[in-house]
Amino acid sequence: MTERIYNFSAGPAVLPEPVLEQAREDLWSLGDSGVGILEHSHRGGPFDAVIEAAEADCRSLAGVGDDHAVLFLQGGASTQFFMLPANLLPEGGTADYVNTGSWSKKAIKEAKLYGNVHVAGSSEDENFSYIPDLASLSCSDSPTYLHFTSNNTIFGTQFPSEPTPPAGAFLACDGSSDAFSRPIDLTRYGVYYAGAQKNLGPSGVTLVVIRRDLLERKERELPTMLRYATHAEQGSRYNTPPTFGIYLMGRVFRWIQDQGGLELLGKQNEEKAALLYDVLDESAFYEAAAKAGTRSLMNVTFRTPSPELDAQFVKESEAAGLSGLKGHRSVGGMRASIYNAFPRQGCQVLAEFMKDFAQRNG
Ligand SMILES: *Cc1c(COP(=O)(O)O)cnc(C)c1O
Repeated sequence: MTERIYNFSAGPAVLPEPVLEQAREDLWSLGDSGVGILEHSHRGGPFDAVIEAAEADCRSLAGVGDDHAVLFLQGGASTQFFMLPANLLPEGGTADYVNTGSWSKKAIKEAKLYGNVHVAGSSEDENFSYIPDLASLSCSDSPTYLHFTSNNTIFGTQFPSEPTPPAGAFLACDGSSDAFSRPIDLTRYGVYYAGAQKNLGPSGVTLVVIRRDLLERKERELPTMLRYATHAEQGSRYNTPPTFGIYLMGRVFRWIQDQGGLELLGKQNEEKAALLYDVLDESAFYEAAAKAGTRSLMNVTFRTPSPELDAQFVKESEAAGLSGLKGHRSVGGMRASIYNAFPRQGCQVLAEFMKDFAQRNG
């Protein structure tokens, strides 16, 4: 079989190897059922067990109790950009957003289709290279919710902790690129959503954790499929759900438990990122694209002294078996995406490559 290389892709991204090995077996036959996971009915007993385990493991990892529903939906995080305001932002109501990058902007654009948007804080003035100070956020008088993007995949910044919404408002979060990468208290959130393909599984399934009392609100008529309540009432099986994605997300939750849970995984993620930030901080050659203090543990963005050297870095790293390091076009330079499943050894190899490259070209 072909050797696997170090995959720094921003998403879809690397998955845990034990999960892939298990999936390879379950593709052929899920347990001893004689039917592969892709071929099982979403209403049969074997899949009941799969979705129940995925939900139970999600709940136990993040301490989610009965006050919240756990949903497995389709359409990616991008569908949540409009599903959230469509369901929960009243006509004429206001939602507050923290604008920390491209994904926040897309979320804001969709919310404006349904109500007013107040930008409670922004880092656009410095090309989103930092997270605004949480104490300096200025919320509107009585917003329905306060939305933030916990990790900014493109720019490489991450909220150190969640902001606090004003009294009466609920907290909403796009956690796509740092979901379950460190301890999180989901009971503080009204709506938490994450496309799976960075930290939790394959593309095609989106995790939504929503406070149950919000399911009773009905701000406008919506197609059945677009209502959170539909999916909550039907256990994410109103129609055919993304069965394989749910299966794989469940395996990833189980793998996180095997790592010792979010506390230990969070420590591992800190150590992995430190291997790279230490090189950046000690080097006069590289420049970190994000400001210290709110740098991301998931997406490490950096530059060499010139675009020509950036291009050479990408080319040479690719040849050395380090794939996917080219930065997003809006930031330039390089981006190392080192999500939950990315191995520590890959960070060590990249750190050595960076030092060597700087020595040869500095
Ligand atoms: C990747 C990403 C998205 C887009 O997710 P889709 O599942 O492709 O819609 C949204 N928000 C963040 C923070 C992301 O990293």
